[in-house]
Amino acid sequence: MERNELMIIYGDKPLEMTKKICEAAHLADMIPAGASIGLKPNLVVAKHPDTGATTHAEILEGCIQYLQEHGHKNIMIIEGSWVGDSTTRAFKVVGYDRLSRQYNVPLFDTKSDAYEHRSYGGLTMEISKTALNLDFLINMPVLKGHCQTIVTGALKNLKGTLSDREKRHFHSLGLHKPIAYLNKIVRPGFILGDGMCGDLDFEEGGNPVRMNRIFCGLDPVLIDSYICQTMGYEPDEIPYIRIAEDIGVGSTDLAHAVVTELNKDTSRAKPASSRRVAQLARYVDDKDACSACYANLIQACARLDDRGLLGWLKKTPVKIGQGYRGQTGTCPGIGNCTRGFDTHCAGCPPKTPDIIAYLEEYISR
Ligand code: SF4
Repeated sequence: MERNELMIIYGDKPLEMTKKICEAAHLADMIPAGASIGLKPNLVVAKHPDTGATTHAEILEGCIQYLQEHGHKNIMIIEGSWVGDSTTRAFKVVGYDRLSRQYNVPLFDTKSDAYEHRSYGGLTMEISKTALNLDFLINMPVLKGHCQTIVTGALKNLKGTLSDREKRHFHSLGLHKPIAYLNKIVRPGFILGDGMCGDLDFEEGGNPVRMNRIFCGLDPVLIDSYICQTMGYEPDEIPYIRIAEDIGVGSTDLAHAVVTELNKDTSRAKPASSRRVAQLARYVDDKDACSACYANLIQACARLDDRGLLGWLKKTPVKIGQGYRGQTGTCPGIGNCTRGFDTHCAGCPPKTPDIIAYLEEYISR
């Protein structure tokens, strides 16, 4: 896999999907024999992944199975929850304690570690010694929103390698610059993103959007740019992504990236499991929409809502889903299934920015 590549797999079976995407990316070949490997999930709080806050245990399980089947046995799960929450409790709540027992993979809490001081650009940081000493780090962020930095993904997930004192220091510095600088020091060898049901706009979860995808790559800036695109933002809207690109961590150039979708999403969208998502879904008429397509539309509706435009769709709800195939209509349609309508946004599934642009144009008529 090259740094300008991204791979995406869709579905609702994260364990199997993880094994397939690791196989397709030839992850095992990137890791030297006998290397110490750290899996770094996002356990910001002790909440179940279905809330949209944390990395699914099934994704770690798929990765561990894959690595062990390829002869890589020296694996640990390493994380430090945010200040005020217990990583040990989080390990239990998300089910990593079972993984640890079943696969003989230790759980390591960076809060209990010794720290080394490392500097970049005049900023000195306290970083977990264990994280720094790993031979190969696999970063496993959740695709989700964040109340301060708008989105969170690969770049920000490395905050879990810091001491609690350093996490507080990062907040006092406004997060963006230190997050970007941290990524010049801690350099994961592989990024495996959990896009199963990340939160719409809050890192602690509560408004999960079922997006049914797992993605991987080598460049954290490119991965975070993909997360931005999926949620309907431009990478330039997120200062730490811009800074990370400027200091050479990676590239935001999605237009020239090689993006491989390993399959099509065939799972059906399910009713919203939170009030905020249900509010957005009131503007949508779904008939058998695929999960990924529906999720992209919900993210687009959230961005239109941010701009005060969503109310314009009250009288003409947006149609989406395979149930509209072969039908005609005057409402806005999303996806190739609605190509018989007077107007529709093409794609299968269409990307979130394309849906936003289409609906903005529709509203402005
Ligand atoms: S356009 Fe139709 S078939 Fe394609 S992803 Fe959307 S709902 Fe599914």
